[in-house]
Amino acid sequence: MEKQAELYAGKAKTAYTTDDPDRLILEFRDDTSAFDGEKVEQLSRKGMVNNRFNAFIMTELQAAGVPTHFEQILSDRESVVKRLDMMPVECVIRNISAGSLCRRLGVAEDETLEPPVFEFFLKNDALHDPMINDSHIITFGWASESEISRMKELTVKVNDVLKPLFEKAGLLLVDYKLEFGRFNGEILLGDEFSPDGCRLWDAATREKFDKDRFRQGLGSVVESYEAVARRLGIAL
Ligand code: ADP
Ligand code: UDP
Repeated sequence: MEKQAELYAGKAKTAYTTDDPDRLILEFRDDTSAFDGEKVEQLSRKGMVNNRFNAFIMTELQAAGVPTHFEQILSDRESVVKRLDMMPVECVIRNISAGSLCRRLGVAEDETLEPPVFEFFLKNDALHDPMINDSHIITFGWASESEISRMKELTVKVNDVLKPLFEKAGLLLVDYKLEFGRFNGEILLGDEFSPDGCRLWDAATREKFDKDRFRQGLGSVVESYEAVARRLGIAL
């Protein structure tokens, strides 16, 4: 597979076209951002760790029947993925209250959410990713009714697979964000699943092992991601 032009450089990854129009190479960079790109730092090894973490999770999800864009790891920091027509929405599931849910609704942190809360956000840094609902998505044409249903169904299925997977490693999957795209008429899970886009707490101590360590300046960010990878048995 031949890497060609840079297609898109986001906050943490760069997408390159390839000689196959249906495939992209995703490069996981060390750049780490928070607060819609206001805080940015380079964290050594993060790109490599997230690339391997994402490959492991996407493979588990694929095996459990969640269709994903992931094809194979190409190098330490690069993976081959199917080129999707991304929908500009973020799908969030929350099993435990934290983050913006607490700020928005004034609920206490660390409450079990049963059933889990599902939220849509518009992917737009300039607008600070505002929360949206099905009606906005339909009216503004970001996705169809059936695509909305499929995104919700797949996001819940991801929870059914990943919650027990992390629990076995002594970790609580507090919440996470997913992005989906279209490929040959199908909806596939795109982007990445890594500690950059979810909250993971130690089940016993509530120690944080995710990007909140970066957001809150707690230090040992990549070391914590590596600790999660070790607990899951991911070779780095
Ligand atoms: P951001 O855009 O949030 O800064 P990244 O730095 O992670 O994010 O950049 C990755 C970009 O690539 C995102 O906009 C994401 O939607 C997009 N993307 C992820 N997977 C695919 C894919 N399979 N096909 C096309 N675009 C993708
Ligand atoms: N999230 C993300 N990208 C975003 C917004 C949120 O990956 O642009 C993830 C975040 O890491 C967390 C979940 O989605 O796991 C819910 O985030 P929340 O709405 O609580 O926002 P935050 O408190 O991070 O601003």
